[in-house]
Amino acid sequence: MKELPKTRRDFMKTTAAGAAGIILARPKILSAQASGAIRIEEPFHGAVLNRRHGKPVGGGLKIKVSGQSPLNGRVIVNGSPARRDGTKFTSEIILRQKQTEIAAVSENNFGRGEHRVQVIWDMHSQARYRFSIDDNSFFLRDIAKNNYASLFDCFYLKNLRGLHSKYGTRFVLNIYYTTEDGFELPQFPDRYKGEWQDNSDWLKLAFHAYANKPDCPYQNVPASKLMADFDRVAEQIIRFASEQTYSPPTVIHWGMVQPEALKPLYERGVRVLSGYFRRQGGVWDVNYLIDDVRSEYLSRHDALMDFESGIVFSRVDIVCNSTPVEGIIPTLEPLTKDPNQAEIMDIFTHEQYFWPFYSNYLPDHFKRLDVAIRWLTENGYKPVFFHEGFLGGRG
Ligand SMILES: [Zn+2]
Repeated sequence: MKELPKTRRDFMKTTAAGAAGIILARPKILSAQASGAIRIEEPFHGAVLNRRHGKPVGGGLKIKVSGQSPLNGRVIVNGSPARRDGTKFTSEIILRQKQTEIAAVSENNFGRGEHRVQVIWDMHSQARYRFSIDDNSFFLRDIAKNNYASLFDCFYLKNLRGLHSKYGTRFVLNIYYTTEDGFELPQFPDRYKGEWQDNSDWLKLAFHAYANKPDCPYQNVPASKLMADFDRVAEQIIRFASEQTYSPPTVIHWGMVQPEALKPLYERGVRVLSGYFRRQGGVWDVNYLIDDVRSEYLSRHDALMDFESGIVFSRVDIVCNSTPVEGIIPTLEPLTKDPNQAEIMDIFTHEQYFWPFYSNYLPDHFKRLDVAIRWLTENGYKPVFFHEGFLGGRG
């Protein structure tokens, strides 16, 4: 390089004007590092943070903020200078309210850069579990057909009540409008209303879908179709089981909806939706069609806030009907070692596997539930409903 180096400000002006010769005259790597964008890598935008992610300090939670920034100059995180180590920066902030915006600003001779993320503090966090059961319809048909004296003369509800008595477990049953063989919710009598109300502190009903078939009924249809089905089921639950028994859904059948459905779901009281957030055949599945980056994040975290809709996504931790008895503890136990997955256990199964007439009937299905719930109870997890407080946390 024969010519005297230009000032950095001049360099930026020149490159902005498109003088390619100047760029080539400088080591490429320097320009990449010096003018690269600042980016907060941790925490993730939408992260739900609890006591396991930081240090409780004076009514707040101190957490680490880290990321990448241009090599030179300084980085300010929420008003305080960050530590620098090459292109990496680290800082600490204290969360004091439920929602916090984190702004990282880089300033050097090339100019100013900024990246913002928002995070949620799960301030009433405690180790907890939520049990939800999908695809429910047969037990309602059974009760209506047999005209039992009590809801709990149906073996399915009787066994769920048994688990509740033993462990205090709370259940949300996501139901269909019809079994598609002539039974529909309007046929279910309202004479059990008092019994539903008496048990509504642990047993809730929620919308799941219009029917078991077709598969993925809400994946490729307008949100209005989902909302119409939602309203039909919700109206029936309130008619025959009361407001106290009604819960917003925990899972929409197959865990897939159009993105524009999230806001109307929020408006109907949905605050949390569970999914698998798993990759199958090269695509992310049972993920409410959210983007790949967030799906991957959720595949290894308890929860993530979608600020656009206000809905928190929760990763299902175990599907009892697809986990044999001997696989239950080995599935749950490793999660307790991972701070990103230890606090909230999203426990899940499907109704049909309880019924002897079902082709894939599991005679040990209740045993599986017992093993999972006993283990959770012994390990200090408290039963909650995700729609009470934030993700079932206190307060
Ligand atoms: Zn389903």
